[in-house]
Amino acid sequence: DAAPGAERIAVYQAQSDQAYQRRIRLARDLRYAAQHHELSAVFQPKLDLASGEVRQVEALMRWQHSQLGMIRPDEFIPLAEQTGSITMLTEWMIVAVLSQLRDWIDRGIHLQVAMNLSARDLDDPEFPRRVERMLRAQQISPDYLALEVTESAVMRDPQASIDSLLVLRDLGISLSVDDYGTGYSSLATLKSLPVQDLKIDKSFVLQLAENSDDAVIVKSTIELAHNMGLRVIAEGIENAGSLAWLKARHCDVVQGYFISRPLSAADLERWMDETRG
Ligand code: C2E
Ligand code: CA
Ligand code: CA
Ligand code: CA
Repeated sequence: DAAPGAERIAVYQAQSDQAYQRRIRLARDLRYAAQHHELSAVFQPKLDLASGEVRQVEALMRWQHSQLGMIRPDEFIPLAEQTGSITMLTEWMIVAVLSQLRDWIDRGIHLQVAMNLSARDLDDPEFPRRVERMLRAQQISPDYLALEVTESAVMRDPQASIDSLLVLRDLGISLSVDDYGTGYSSLATLKSLPVQDLKIDKSFVLQLAENSDDAVIVKSTIELAHNMGLRVIAEGIENAGSLAWLKARHCDVVQGYFISRPLSAADLERWMDETRG
C-alpha cells in the first residue's frame, strides 16, 4: 500500500502550486493594471461623532482584473510590496485622489481624503517633495490630504520614515497611525511618530460590544491616545452596539460598514445627499 499521507501531500502540493502560479500571474499583471485602467479608488466615510458630520473619507484601492475579476487589496498589496510595484500603485493612487479632490473642490464638496502608504513610500527620501509638487500642480491645499501609515511600515527604517513623516506634517498634511494594536505597537514608537490621529485596528472593534477583552483594550487605547493629545479613530464598526459604546467612551471618529461601505465617488456623493437630510 502507498503511504497513507502521500495522496494528501499530492493534493496539498497541487494547491500550493496553484497558489504560487496565481501569485506569479498577479505580480506580472499588476505592473500593467494601471495602464489597462483596471485600478480604481473607492471612498469610505469617516463619521465625526461630536458633530455627526462626515468631513473625511479613506481612499481604498480596487483592482478589477480582466480575466480573474475583482482582486482584494489584502491579496495584491502585500504582493506589490514584495515585488516593488507598490511605489507605482501609490503614485497611481495619489494622482487618483488629487484629481478627485480637485473635482470635489471645484464643485463645492469639501472632504479630506486619507490614503494608505507602505514602508517603501516612507523609506523614499524623495516621496514628501513629490507629494508637495503634485499638490501644488493641482493647486490643492495640503489640509485636504491625510496619510495613514502602520507602525510596522515605519519600523522597516524608523529614522528615514520619521524624517519623511516630519516633512509631510510640516507641509500641513494630516497623519494617522493605522492598525494600532497589531504588529509592532510600542509606546516608544507611538511617542516618536509625528501623527495627529490614532486608528484602532478593526480586529479590536468588530466584537467590541460582546467581547470584554476587546472592550478593555479599546477603552484604555482611547484614554492613552487622548492623554497624548491624539485624536482616536475606530474602524470596523459593523453594528449599533459598537457605535454606541464608542460614542459613550468619547471616541472621536468612527468608520465601518454600519456607517457605510467604501463607495465610488458618485455613490459617496449620493450617500452624503441622502444622509444629510
Ligand atoms: P486598512 O487600511 O486597514 O483599511 C480598512 C479595511 O477595512 C478596508 O479593506 C475596508 O474596506 C475594511 N473595512 C471597513 N469597514 C469595515 C467593517 O466594518 N468591517 C470589516 N470587516 N472591514 C471593514 P480593503 O479595502 O479590502 O483594504 C484592505 C487593506 O489593503 C487596507 O487595510 C490597506 O492596508 C490595504 N490598502 C487598500 N488600499 C490601499 C492603497 O491604496 N495603498 C496601500 N498601500 N494599501 C492599501
Ligand atoms: Ca487605512
Ligand atoms: Ca486599518
Ligand atoms: Ca489593515
